[in-house]
Amino acid sequence: MNRQDAELLDAQDPLAPLRAFFSLPEGVVYLDGNSLGALPKATPEHIRRTVEQEWGHDLIASWNTAGWIDAPRRLGDRIAPWIGARSGEVLVADSTSVNLYKVMHAALQLQQGQRKVVVSERSNFPTDNYIAQSVVRAHGGELVLVDTPEDIPALLDDRCAVLMLTHVNYRTGRMHDMALLTRWAQQAGALAVWDLAHSAGAVPVDLLGSAADFAVGCSYKYLNGGPGAPAFVWAHPRHQGQVWQPLTGWLGHAAPFAFTPDYRPAPGIQQYQCGTPPIVAMAALESALDVFDTAQQLGGMAAIRAKSVALTEAFIAAVDAELPGVQVQSPRASAQRGSQVSLSVPSDVDAYAVVQALIARGVVGDFRDGDPPLLRFGFTPLYTRHTDVVDAVSALKDVLSSGDWRAPGFQRKGKVT
Ligand SMILES: *Cc1c(COP(=O)(O)O)cnc(C)c1O
Repeated sequence: MNRQDAELLDAQDPLAPLRAFFSLPEGVVYLDGNSLGALPKATPEHIRRTVEQEWGHDLIASWNTAGWIDAPRRLGDRIAPWIGARSGEVLVADSTSVNLYKVMHAALQLQQGQRKVVVSERSNFPTDNYIAQSVVRAHGGELVLVDTPEDIPALLDDRCAVLMLTHVNYRTGRMHDMALLTRWAQQAGALAVWDLAHSAGAVPVDLLGSAADFAVGCSYKYLNGGPGAPAFVWAHPRHQGQVWQPLTGWLGHAAPFAFTPDYRPAPGIQQYQCGTPPIVAMAALESALDVFDTAQQLGGMAAIRAKSVALTEAFIAAVDAELPGVQVQSPRASAQRGSQVSLSVPSDVDAYAVVQALIARGVVGDFRDGDPPLLRFGFTPLYTRHTDVVDAVSALKDVLSSGDWRAPGFQRKGKVT
C-alpha cells in the first residue's frame, strides 16, 4: 500500500467523517488511543456548561435538574450496546481497578467458600493481578497464573472459583474467545470475569451472548472519555441480589436518601455504585459517547471492526515488507487480534529510544518493557486513517535506518512511559 492507495481507502472509509469530531494536533499521527483516547471536540464546551451553568449557576439543584444523580446509570446505558449488555445492566463508576475488586469479591462470595482458586494470565495487566492477589488473600484462596492461554483448560477443575481474563491483552493485543473460555469455565463450575479495558469501543463484545458472569472496563482508552475517566461495571442479571459487593457505600443502598443506619443493597447493578459520582469527568465521557452515536449511524461496530482489521492488517503488511529485523508480536490472525499491533526490534536496538525518536517525528505510539520490550501502536478506528499507517511505517523506517534513536535525549525516561 503506497500513500495514494491509502488516500483512496480513506476516501472510501464510511467512518472517515468521525475524525472531524476529534481535536488532534496538526501533523501528529496518534497511535496511542489504546492508552489515552483523543479529545472529542465537543468535550471542552460540554465541561464548560457543566461547570458554569450546572455547578456555577444551578448549584445543588443540578443533582435533580441536570440529572447528575442518574449519570452513572445513564452513561452505563449508553455503553451497554457496545459490550453486548442491555439497558439497566451497566454502571459507570470508580476506576477499572476498583470495579474489578468489587466483582472479584462478589464472584468469590457466589462460590460460597467451596472453591477459592482464581486463574488468570501472568501477562494480564498488572493491576488486575494485584487486585486478584488481595481478593484471594481475603478469601483464603490462591491466584494461579498461566504463561500461555493453552494452559488454562487444565486449571479449570473443581477448585477453580473464577477465571479472570482481560479480553484483549495490553501488551500484544491478543484477543481471547470470550464465549468459548466462558463456557469452559462454567462447565467446570467456575465463573468468568472479563476485563474489557482494551475492547470497549474497539472490538465486538457480546457479554450476554457469551453468558459471561461479570465484566469491568475502562472508558479513557478507545471510548475517549478523558484521563482518569470513570470506568464501567457489569454483572449478569442472574447474579443480582445474591451477594453484597464489598464497597457498600451509600449510593449503592436501596434508599440512600432515607439515611437509615443499616445497609440494604439496591437492586441490580446500582448496588455496585459506592459513593458520589465525579460529575465533571462524567460530562467528558458523555460527549465522547455522543461520537459513538454517530458511529452507530455510520455502520456501528461492524464498520468499526472492519476498519480496525483493515488498519492493523495494512500496518503488519507494511512492517513485514519494509522493516527487516522488526518482528510483529501481535497475532497475525485478525480474529485473534484487538485494535493494536505490537512490534519488537533487534536486541541491539533500544526500543524505548526508538519510540521517543518516533514521537519526536510526530508519530505517537508507546513502549512497554518486558521480554521482549515492545513498541505498541493502537489503531482507534474512529480517527485513525490509512495514511497514518503509511506515515507511521515510513517514520519508523527512517528512525531505524538513520540511527537517530541513539541520540542521548531519546534514552531519558519520564515517570510515565
Ligand atoms: C488500562 C487498564 C486498566 C486501568 O485500570 P485503572 O484502574 O483505570 O488504572 C486496568 N486493567 C486493564 C487490563 C487495563 O488495560
